[in-house]
Amino acid sequence: MYDVCIVGGGVIGCAIARELARCELSIALLEKHSDVAEGTSKANSAIVHAGYDARPGTVKARTNIAGNAVFEAWCRELDVPFRRNTSLVVTFNTEGIFGLRELLERGRKNGVPGLHLLSQTELRAREPNIGPSACGALLAETGGICCPYELTIALAAQAVQNGVDLKLNCQVTSVRKNPAGGFLLQTSQGPLNCRTLVNAAGVHADGINNQLSENRFRIIPRRGEYWMVDKAFGSAFSATIFQLPTAMGKGILVTPTVEGTVILGPTAEDIDNKEDTRTTAAKLEEILRVASLSWAQIPRKNFITAFAGVRAHPEHNDFILGEAPDVPGLFNAAGVESPGLTAAPAIAGELAGLVAARLGARNKAEYQPPWPAPKHFRSMSDSERQAAIAENPEYGRIICRCEQISEAEIRAAIRRPVGATTLDGVKRRTRAGMGRCQGGFCTPRVLHILSEELDVSPLELTKSGGLSKILTGRVGESEADIGITQNGGSSHG
Ligand SMILES: Cc1cc2nc3c(=O)[nH]c(=O)nc-3n(C[C@H](O)[C@H](O)[C@H](O)COP(=O)(O)OP(=O)(O)OC[C@H]3O[C@@H](n4cnc5c(N)ncnc54)[C@H](O)[C@@H]3O)c2cc1C
Repeated sequence: MYDVCIVGGGVIGCAIARELARCELSIALLEKHSDVAEGTSKANSAIVHAGYDARPGTVKARTNIAGNAVFEAWCRELDVPFRRNTSLVVTFNTEGIFGLRELLERGRKNGVPGLHLLSQTELRAREPNIGPSACGALLAETGGICCPYELTIALAAQAVQNGVDLKLNCQVTSVRKNPAGGFLLQTSQGPLNCRTLVNAAGVHADGINNQLSENRFRIIPRRGEYWMVDKAFGSAFSATIFQLPTAMGKGILVTPTVEGTVILGPTAEDIDNKEDTRTTAAKLEEILRVASLSWAQIPRKNFITAFAGVRAHPEHNDFILGEAPDVPGLFNAAGVESPGLTAAPAIAGELAGLVAARLGARNKAEYQPPWPAPKHFRSMSDSERQAAIAENPEYGRIICRCEQISEAEIRAAIRRPVGATTLDGVKRRTRAGMGRCQGGFCTPRVLHILSEELDVSPLELTKSGGLSKILTGRVGESEADIGITQNGGSSHG
């Protein structure tokens, strides 16, 4: 019997697990995919929102502001990237100035510091590449950018280092109350009992809650699509450029990423299938049309990929956070759409506090610090590179040429706590395969290293678990004769 079972290995579930791991509790973190950060937490805008957008008085507004205030320290502690690059909401017509003033007022009501209106001249001085019709902006000094999947992996790793039992490929198929108290979960790895249940199942959180509580809710999957532009244009904008929000969300933005690329998007489209992360020609075209107001010279020939994520839009428009009123021991972190990433530290602190109080849990005497990530070859000076190679020659073998990722980093990403077991797992921990060629060159070499480290046949390796096998079989005797399917995003003879 676990004290706590947490359903969902996204940023919210992993952050709650890491907080609860400070207490003397037995905790299981259950994720149906083969890795953490395989849901919404891997595909979003990665903005740490200032908090001027959420309706005052809502859980969204409260946790957004509290999350933003500690986000930088959180990322520093976990050794994951963060940059306070500021945000600008830009209007492209003079009537929009009223919209900016409304946002300024709302932001002040929410307690957002560092908000200022900028004139056209001030805006252009900050962002010379802004579209010609831009006529004013709201500057939010506290806006920032981060890497959502690195963050989620780091949170999970520290949770595991502190005793959390992470069960991957473990889908919760049904939940019910135990007559003797607590909950009985049926999972793809067999039954589990727990005293308290944390529901952080993202777009599927309604399914978990509604099996136990009469306080039913519905999560509407709302897909957002993006274009990504090559690093060559990484300095086109220094701030995140928003347009005025719409009824469907914060609208289409243009933003630098902490990795040095630029993303354009997201669209907002309610869909039926919660797992449908396809991109569509129509929506990608819509992004170009709308974003060209912000960036008149969008470098279309330098798009390196397109992707989509699905928001868990709650029908009542606010996060559902706390213990279900009619089911003691069931704690929901549901409907966590944007700004859920920003709010994650606050949500985790609040919810873990409630769970610990219900269980009367005491703090542990010791809490392990985060795993020290190896230094990236790409960000080393020449002398640091020489020293690193002298110490470990694997630093001298570059596997991903676009992103300058060495063999040493890939091996470390597999061996680390919550290490990579798939091609995408390596990609999200190292950036190998995320550059201009999108894995065209490094995929076979990463597979070779994965196969060595995990001691499995390359034929068993997957892109992202399940049926996503990459290799179809041997066409000759040697390793070099192994063919790569389109699923792996690459082919070699
Ligand atoms: C297009 C888009 C843009 C966004 N932009 C931003 C932004 O810029 N800033 C910001 O602050 N927020 C943003 N967000 C919101 C942010 O991404 C989410 O709030 C956050 O990722 C939610 O994390 P989560 O852990 O709740 O969900 P998820 O990351 O989806 O995690 C839920 C996990 O539960 C697992 N799961 C589900 N059901 C089960 C089951 N039965 N058994 C086991 N496991 C299960 C899933 O596999 C998944 O891994 C954006 C979202 C989208 C889609």
